[in-house]
Amino acid sequence: MSKYDVVIIGGGVGGTASGAILASNGLKTLLIEKNQFIGGRCSTYEKEGFKIDIGVHSFGRTSNGPLGTVLKMINMEDAVDWVLARNPGPVQYYQGKFWKFPKELEKLIPPSDFSSLIKILRDIMRIKDTKELDNLSIKTWLSKYSDNKLVHSFINIICGLYFVVSYNEASAGEFVRCLSSLVQNRSTGYPKGGCISIPLAYAKAIEKFGGTVETGVTAKKIIIEDGKIQGVELDNNKFISSQLVISNAGIKETINNMVGRNYFDKIYLEKIDKLKYSMSAFSLKLALKKPITHFKVINSISLDFEEKINTVLEGEVPDKVDLFVPIPSNYDPELAPKGKQLIIAGTAVPRENFERNREKWISSTMETLEEMFPKFQNNLMWMEVTTPKDIESIGGKEASVIGVSQTVDQTGVNRPATSLPIEGLYVVGGDAGGWGIGTELAAQSAIDCSKIILKQKK
Ligand SMILES: Cc1cc2nc3c(=O)[nH]c(=O)nc-3n(C[C@H](O)[C@H](O)[C@H](O)COP(=O)(O)OP(=O)(O)OC[C@H]3O[C@@H](n4cnc5c(N)ncnc54)[C@H](O)[C@@H]3O)c2cc1C
Repeated sequence: MSKYDVVIIGGGVGGTASGAILASNGLKTLLIEKNQFIGGRCSTYEKEGFKIDIGVHSFGRTSNGPLGTVLKMINMEDAVDWVLARNPGPVQYYQGKFWKFPKELEKLIPPSDFSSLIKILRDIMRIKDTKELDNLSIKTWLSKYSDNKLVHSFINIICGLYFVVSYNEASAGEFVRCLSSLVQNRSTGYPKGGCISIPLAYAKAIEKFGGTVETGVTAKKIIIEDGKIQGVELDNNKFISSQLVISNAGIKETINNMVGRNYFDKIYLEKIDKLKYSMSAFSLKLALKKPITHFKVINSISLDFEEKINTVLEGEVPDKVDLFVPIPSNYDPELAPKGKQLIIAGTAVPRENFERNREKWISSTMETLEEMFPKFQNNLMWMEVTTPKDIESIGGKEASVIGVSQTVDQTGVNRPATSLPIEGLYVVGGDAGGWGIGTELAAQSAIDCSKIILKQKK
């Protein structure tokens, strides 16, 4: 029977990051991952010389945020090579043109609304206690500044990019924390080698510090006796002994299926049952014969974004889809064969109802891309489609982009804690603890969880 100080179930950002920190602090660490590859939703695969992310990724604070903090904590700062989104920086596509936010918005909205927007951005930088805003939706908070539709659309779109829920539901406190730290750090970017480079660097660190990483291994049960963790049973019935288990498999999956509901009290279970996940996503991966744009990352925007999001939530496809379009090979030319270009275009969709509208989503997305890059299809070699089903098959968690969503009732003190009410059991990743955008939320949750464990070990 193998015995470890800590067993980590799942090799997403949260699992690999906590494994790296704990292994570097001397804990005998085992990480098991059910897929044959590391990274979960933050993974990259290869096709005909193109290295393609499963998701649609841009990284808010790169080395200055929690993804970099993990590397600093294990003295491996250079293990990920970041390329910043500069020269050119991120742009918005609106009414047939590419614009810089917020500078060039001045040309599009009345001066009084532009002043309100600048005031919002200034206030965001000044607000000290963001907790006070946790229970307020972004829409309610924003309405105190401006009712200009374009200002609302811009902020709603940024909210969609950060949290993958509508600004009617997302927490203003979390938004202010994320946007202000992004503006302060000015280090949005992307890692060389594709997004998998981040969890891969963490997984390599686990091994460097004497731990073990096993892919293609599925955890079936977390075993508890006398209220204490005993270890993990695999789907091949093998038992691994450990008094510490960190699950990156999702909070609902961990409680309902891996541990069993009978170990938790009614009030806790009611809270877990009520948790809602962020929306899912659909994306096209476009392999192009030659570069068609020099931009690194583009968001397309429209005035009727709120109506569009409501249409999407009702299960329908808007006439023109707004897109998030990173161009990974403009960050790292190695991600496409020489002289070719990789473009990824994605948008938020609900998991339910997607398949019945699949073809419509594809054609509507192609229309927006055709408008952005006229005749781009002449250079299209092939494209791949990633749907909510694909995301669910990789990461579980109801195919959500983020995990437990950062809505008013699930943020700050209302966010599920990484420590579960069973001694030695923790959940990391986008489902519990932390704050931030996507992968940064997952990394922050891993940092917080590891600190709790290391403090208790002392
Ligand atoms: C389309 C899309 C776009 C995105 N865009 C961005 C972006 O621009 N910026 C950003 O920062 N983030 C973005 N994200 C979000 C980001 O990828 C996720 O929030 C983050 O990767 C989640 O990490 P996690 O730690 O929760 O682990 P997950 O990615 O959920 O990984 C969990 C892992 O656990 C494994 N596992 C589950 N059950 C078991 C089991 N029983 N046994 C063993 N292993 C198991 C799974 O196989 C998986 O590998 C995007 C995600 C998607 C899908």
